[in-house]
Parts: sequence; C-alpha cells; structure tokens
Amino acid sequence: MVDIDGNRLNARLEAFAAIGGTVKGGVNRQALTDGDRQARQLLAELALARGFTVSQDPMANLFIRRAGRNDTLAPVVIGSHLDSQPAGGRFDGALGTLSAFEVLESLEDAGIETERPVVVVSWTNEEGCRFAPGCMGSMAFAAGEIPPDWQGKLATDGASLVDELKATIKSLPPAQMISLGFPIHAYIEVHIEQGPALEANDIPIGVVGGIQGTRWLDVVIRGQTAHAGTTGLAYRRDPLRALTAALSGLYETIMPDDTDARFTVGRISVEPGSVNAIPDVARCTVDMRHPDPMRLDEIEQRVLSSIAKEAKRQGCEAEMSRSFDMASCTFSTDLQAAIEQAAMVRGLKSTPMLSGAFHDALFVNRVAPAAMIFVPCRDGLSHNEAEHVEPDYAVAGCAVLAEATLATSRMTLI
Ligand SMILES: [Zn+2]
Repeated sequence: MVDIDGNRLNARLEAFAAIGGTVKGGVNRQALTDGDRQARQLLAELALARGFTVSQDPMANLFIRRAGRNDTLAPVVIGSHLDSQPAGGRFDGALGTLSAFEVLESLEDAGIETERPVVVVSWTNEEGCRFAPGCMGSMAFAAGEIPPDWQGKLATDGASLVDELKATIKSLPPAQMISLGFPIHAYIEVHIEQGPALEANDIPIGVVGGIQGTRWLDVVIRGQTAHAGTTGLAYRRDPLRALTAALSGLYETIMPDDTDARFTVGRISVEPGSVNAIPDVARCTVDMRHPDPMRLDEIEQRVLSSIAKEAKRQGCEAEMSRSFDMASCTFSTDLQAAIEQAAMVRGLKSTPMLSGAFHDALFVNRVAPAAMIFVPCRDGLSHNEAEHVEPDYAVAGCAVLAEATLATSRMTLI
C-alpha cells in the first residue's frame, strides 16, 4: 500500500481554491488567464521543491515527472485540469490534478520506486468556456498537433489563443519545453462525479467504464398554414401534429426500453406562431445519448423514420440533419479492473458506472489505455460555486489512484 497524506491533499485543495477564489467559495480560474497561470506556477514550484522534472508543451499542458526504475519505458500518466468555469467549483479538475500530485509526493515520501516513470499532468482548457471547444490540451496532445484552424481562435473576452498560450508558457520559465504528444503506458484521471448516483448510494468510488456518445439533430417539418376555424381535418397539413405524434411514440419507447438511452427535446417552436392559425413550420432539436455506438445509430434511425412517417401521414415534409456528433468511448478493461482491485485493497466500496460528461480521458483514450475514478460530490452539483466534496471522499479517490498507479506501473496492458 502507498500511504497518502490526506491532510496535505485537503490543505492543497484549499490553497489552490484561493487562486481565483470567489466570495461564494467557488473559483473563477478560466483557461489561460492570470489565475490559471498562478495555479500552474504554484504546482510547478511544489514539484521542483520535491526534485521532480517539470515540462510543458506548445499547448501549455503541464507535466511533472518522477523517474521510474526503467526510465526509458512509457510513463503512467495521472492528472486532470486546473482551469475552471467562470462561476466554477473548487474540485472540478483540481481534485484530479492535486490527487495525482499527492500520489507522486507519497511515492517519494515512502521511497517507493515504480517500474515506470509516473507523470502528473494538468491539461490546458478542459472547460472550453473561455476558448471553445473544451479539452483543447488533451485533444491536441492526442492528435500530435495543434489543429491549424485554432490559429485565429479568439476568447469570449477577445483575447487570442496564440497570444495567451505564449504568455502562459512564458510565465513558467523553469519548465522545459517538450513537443506535443508522447507515448503513454496508461492514463488514470480522478474526477468528481458531477452527478448524484455515488452520493445517493453512499459509494465512495466509481469505476468509470466509458463516456457515452452524444448526437444532436435539427428537425424541421413543413406543412401549410390555414385558418384554425374553417379548415376541417381532411384539409389540414399540420406539422406540429406530425411532430407531436412522432415524439409521443419516441418518449414511450426509447428511454423506457433501454435504461442506458437518453432522449431529450430541449427546444421546440412553430411558425407563424398565431393563436388561430395552423402552423406551417414546426422545428425542434433532439439530443440522443448512448454508450453503445450501434444502439445510438438505432435510436437515431428510429427518430428519423418515425418523424418522416408522421410527417408523411399529415401531408408534410420533414428535413432532419445532424448538428453535433461525439462518439462514445470505452475505457481500458485492464485499467478498470486495476481501479476496482485498488478500491478493494483500500477497503472501499466501488461501483462500475459511465460518465455522462466529456473529460480529457476521452481524448487520451484515443492514443493510450485510459480510465477514470469518480468520487461523490454533494447533491451531484458541479459547474457551481457551491460544488463540494467531503474530505474523506477526496482522500478515498486519491488512495485508490495511488494503488492503481503502482499496480499499473507493473502491468502489461493490451
Ligand atoms: Zn472537469
């Protein structure tokens, strides 16, 4: 077992929460701002004081490396992000990054030599609120290049991504520059659940098996507008009637038939929008999610065909197009087993679960075996200044990360 220092971890969480801290107890430490730079500087200082190697890449991803017995092997990488939402919580991202750093310090304190090097990472701009999209650092790392269309990218406050990256990199002179992307043996990320399941069941550890896929549709049904009082049923071409008939069938089947499926219509409108006119256009968005890509395809097909069928029945025409498509990911089963085993060693209850939100692990998983450890957060609340993690849960996540890191450093992964 690796002895982690829970008090030190919770004190570090406090110290980092003060950087960009808000009066309501949250943080505003958006990506590539002064606050973000201060947090990176503090982490780098702590790392250098322990004799670890600090480096950064052209995306300002920050790496802290502790050598392994066989130092030429690909490292086990652990970490998360230090940027936050504008009115964010103090644990989203910081918990994973500081837990990873605590693991590194604990290994050092105990003089434990790992087979492979262990690297702590803080990915740049996970949140995506100042510069879109989110997970820019891990995305570019996995791609091995900064996408050319990011060159002219501007922040919500007008700042240029290129300039802010330059200034952020410059603000950390002791970090040596390395190129983007390197081989990773395994990647493990601790994160708050951002949902209510673990807390509700009093389970401290979620073993995350993957991240569900998301697909959005824009739906437009066109019919004919006509007088609400004079137009009999046989003469109506009512697009809203077609849409509601289709949706009611879809609500009755998609989620009731499959507990992993998500089906949401979040926006709906009709034109011309007059109290006494049959609409000629009905529009809606559809958000569909499922961990299994085949099932997501089936759900999409069901939505498309049932809207087309009901439109036809009402003498209307339907146009449907995808506006967003994010493939699901399945994490390494070896790593999931290692996390489950680590929880057992620590005497902590764990449960397999899926993530409903994106994380850096989704992108790292494209180039290396990856997995995540979730810990409960109060009322499932996140992206909120009131976000809270009980100190014991923070320590539990870190302890499991420590065991899993040690075990993974020795494992052959397929
Ligand atoms: Zn996060």
